[in-house]
Amino acid sequence: MSKSIGIDIGGTNCRLGVFDGLQLVNETRFQADFMQTCKNNLPDVAWQQILRVLTSAIQSEFIRYPDIQTIGIGFPGFIHPQTQCIAQAPNLPGLKDVNLSCDLSRIIAKKVVVENDALAAAYGEYCLNGKPSAGLIYIGLGTGVGGGLIIDGKPFSGAHGVAMEVGHITVEPNGRLCGCGNRGCLEQYASATGVGNSYFLATQNRLNAFELAKLAIENDVQAQAAFNEAGRALGQVMAHIQKIIDVPNVIIGGGLSASWDLMQDSFNAQLDMDLIAVLRGKINVNVSGADDIAGMLGAAMLSVNA
Ligand SMILES: [Zn+2]
Repeated sequence: MSKSIGIDIGGTNCRLGVFDGLQLVNETRFQADFMQTCKNNLPDVAWQQILRVLTSAIQSEFIRYPDIQTIGIGFPGFIHPQTQCIAQAPNLPGLKDVNLSCDLSRIIAKKVVVENDALAAAYGEYCLNGKPSAGLIYIGLGTGVGGGLIIDGKPFSGAHGVAMEVGHITVEPNGRLCGCGNRGCLEQYASATGVGNSYFLATQNRLNAFELAKLAIENDVQAQAAFNEAGRALGQVMAHIQKIIDVPNVIIGGGLSASWDLMQDSFNAQLDMDLIAVLRGKINVNVSGADDIAGMLGAAMLSVNA
């Protein structure tokens, strides 16, 4: 079987997996702070730099694995389902209407499929969890909060690539300013950044989510409150999602999911409170068991199946 590449573009680094079917045969991580690239450069210059970094990473794999046929990329932005254009990337300021699929496939002469990063991860989880017929929801808690829905065996991206952009659902009217331009979005509370901000607002002390998880386990009340706030906000949003689409298989992934124990109680309490009675107790929420390879795997599988 020919191989495929799956790339997961994160906030400050990228992960590249070479897959033989569902099997990961090699993983490479490389430093790529695309957020800073976009902040420090004009959009055209930033875009050329991003293309250069990705091209170089992909071409090194071609040398090692000449039978690579397709490349899938999970990208942190809204991808137009027909044109594959990146309509907007809230955490990559300035990027607009660029076409990663076209630009990259022109350079490397292979098929390149680009999908929203959380939707790619959702597809990866769907493949790894036996392709459940009721579909699957993936929530990625990382630098931001992403969401992806697989329904009828396919990623559901909506007409503009914005479906399941749950990180930008309002949980706090007139709340914290978000990268998308609105206020009070979920990801300002339930992402790694959001947890850090909750703690900072309460203590004026700037710590990262990893340090805060450690403090919370040691019973620091303010650190615990920051994680409770994250769980509460996510529970509220999950109740809304279920009332709209009723897909009970939920996988929580992303770096912050390692601290799910610290959010779980407030999440469950809020979810239970906000759900319609008929759905109470019927939502199966699990932390990803895929060691976070789901994003790469899903992107690779989407490139193979496209
Ligand atoms: Zn937002």
